[in-house]
Amino acid sequence: MGIAIYIIICLLVAPAGKGKRIGMFKTFLFSFLLTPIIGLYLALGSGRLNARGCNHCGNTENEAEFCGVCGKNEDGKSREELGIEL
Ligand SMILES: [Zn+2]
Repeated sequence: MGIAIYIIICLLVAPAGKGKRIGMFKTFLFSFLLTPIIGLYLALGSGRLNARGCNHCGNTENEAEFCGVCGKNEDGKSREELGIEL
């Protein structure tokens, strides 16, 4: 029972990493492994996804999660592959 509540808290903390360099998945992972308090702290301390460029096509001015030129994110996945609708 306790572990279920713990996972729910981790899931509630995960969105804090959305739009940040750390991302939702890693926020959840750190929350789960290192307690949600540390996960939240890492998510809030993580920089926003600004002008980090693109690893896949040489676009150096990309600010969005998905590259404006080739449409891939940091992991090389496109919106379609991740099932995100525009
Ligand atoms: Zn690109």
